[in-house]
Amino acid sequence: MCGIIGYAGPRQAAPILLEGLKRMEYRGYDSSGICVGTADGAGSTSYSLALVKKIGKIQALRQVVPKDFPGSWGIGHTRWATHGAVTDRNAHPLLDNSGRIACVHNGIIENYRALREMLEGEGVVFQSETDSEVIPNLVAKYYEGDLESAVKAALANLQGTYGIAVIHAAEPGRIVGARNGSPLVIGIGDGEMFLASDVTAMISHTKQVVYLNDGELVVVDSSGFRTTDREDRHVDKKIEKVSWELGAIEKGDYPCYMEKEIFEQPESIERALGGRIDFETASAKLAGLNLDRRRLGEISRVEVIAAGTSWHAGLVGVGLLERMARIPASAELASELRYRNPVVQRDSLYFAVSQSGETADTLYALREMQRKGGHVLGICNVVGSTIARESEGGIYVHSGPEIAVASTKAFTSQLAAFYLFSLLMSRMRDLSISEGSRFARALAGVPEQVKKVLAGRDEIQRIAKKYSHSRDFLFLGRGLMYPIALEGALKLKEISYIHAEGYAAGEIKHGPIALVTPEVPSLFLVPDDELREKTLSNMKEIKARGGPVIAVGVEGDDEVAATADDFIATPRMDPRFYPFTMVVPLQLFAYFCALDLGRDVDQPRNLAKSVTVE
Ligand code: GLU
Repeated sequence: MCGIIGYAGPRQAAPILLEGLKRMEYRGYDSSGICVGTADGAGSTSYSLALVKKIGKIQALRQVVPKDFPGSWGIGHTRWATHGAVTDRNAHPLLDNSGRIACVHNGIIENYRALREMLEGEGVVFQSETDSEVIPNLVAKYYEGDLESAVKAALANLQGTYGIAVIHAAEPGRIVGARNGSPLVIGIGDGEMFLASDVTAMISHTKQVVYLNDGELVVVDSSGFRTTDREDRHVDKKIEKVSWELGAIEKGDYPCYMEKEIFEQPESIERALGGRIDFETASAKLAGLNLDRRRLGEISRVEVIAAGTSWHAGLVGVGLLERMARIPASAELASELRYRNPVVQRDSLYFAVSQSGETADTLYALREMQRKGGHVLGICNVVGSTIARESEGGIYVHSGPEIAVASTKAFTSQLAAFYLFSLLMSRMRDLSISEGSRFARALAGVPEQVKKVLAGRDEIQRIAKKYSHSRDFLFLGRGLMYPIALEGALKLKEISYIHAEGYAAGEIKHGPIALVTPEVPSLFLVPDDELREKTLSNMKEIKARGGPVIAVGVEGDDEVAATADDFIATPRMDPRFYPFTMVVPLQLFAYFCALDLGRDVDQPRNLAKSVTVE
């Protein structure tokens, strides 16, 4: 959600800020703006702030920023409104009353009402309806010639979450940033510095970055940066190098990111598995878990904490773990778990799963579990993200940047992480070396099988076209296919806005079958596993009531193909691995339905990529 970019250096700031905002577009936003410091006349040493903001896409902002917008330091923002309507006025940057201080803010200031009343009592006239506007006005209240100390004093009043960047016309070339709950990263260029909420915003300029932690504050200018904590103590930071290239966040020849990411899956799964399968011992190498064998052996329960697509990956993961390693396991919705006063057991292991590593629900649940003494590991894609840093270890899934809002490649990489972990745990328990080898070989072969499914894209597009005008859909599966049905329904909802329900196929007769009519198609997942006959019976129940049926099944399964109205064949494999191959047709199906309906596939309405609010 929402983004921050700041620049201080010798170049014209506006194009750099606009480019940074453009690169963060994928996160979801409703308005944007930039503010730069400019000299009051040629050769003048006094400066003013110039502000432009606009609702809608960055393109709309670009059109109102003059080409020669001067100024070589400034800040920019994409807003995802939480307090106050989506209007030009409520867009950030927000100025203080004097117009000399500008601030961008990600997050929510919970005590803004009290602060606003206090400031109004002191004569401040607010220009927006946002919670954020209290920040520049507090900074103004405390300003005595040093922006850094004024920001520190202002922050001491705030309750809530924030990533902020602040500039003052009286301190040219300087940006003060701080974080508490919303990410902020410093980018180190050659004679220039950046500040952003997301590495993607500055990757075309630098790969040298420093991640701020909660409670830290940074002052940057073109010559470098200085970090301190809330008590004004110096904090030493490590400079890290971003491992991916600019190409990873560009569309290349694809019409949109989602299609690119779906088709990248053979490589992204390969990367997730990369060097982690130990064929010699028929096990997995997951050094990042930071757990020795003895500690792993003591684990008697695994619980996954996640939201949305990551939760679906978790459901597959716990199903597999239970089946293979015979460990009781469950997957919980982070937003529910957190407020349930959960029972934390010492011999349980918790996995917080989040593509971005910033998902607020998951992060807060992780903290709650840690407060109760729970041992929490992370499964994240974004390196250096908050969940990755706050967990005691974990597995990076290495999908590469995922830009489309609807997750695809991160999902299959999360699956890969769970399959590796299941192999490791089952080899420590029940699984023999020969069975382990069979599993390891099949896992290593997954990218090849996914490639075969992707080759069927035209047929899936044809079927999607046939059904894209349906108003409702059912997605049905059993066992490991149940979470895949949930994921398929979620994909369709997210990007095509068609109402879809994912159900355990055995459950339909307990209610949802009442929805079945010739206008409501059902998509069945029918692998050739021990539940095939049962699922086939459920398909027949739907057919008997006139419901159209699409089946995703296994090549050569003539009975399933003959029962369904439309059949999508996937390669025959060890049934435990069908979640990888059978989710892909559902991603493509959702994608082609959305395309047919003319939807904005990469940035569906109301959604944000990294959900940083509760
Ligand atoms: N709460 C602030 C607002 O509504 C910031 C939202 C954001 O993070 O973009 O303006």
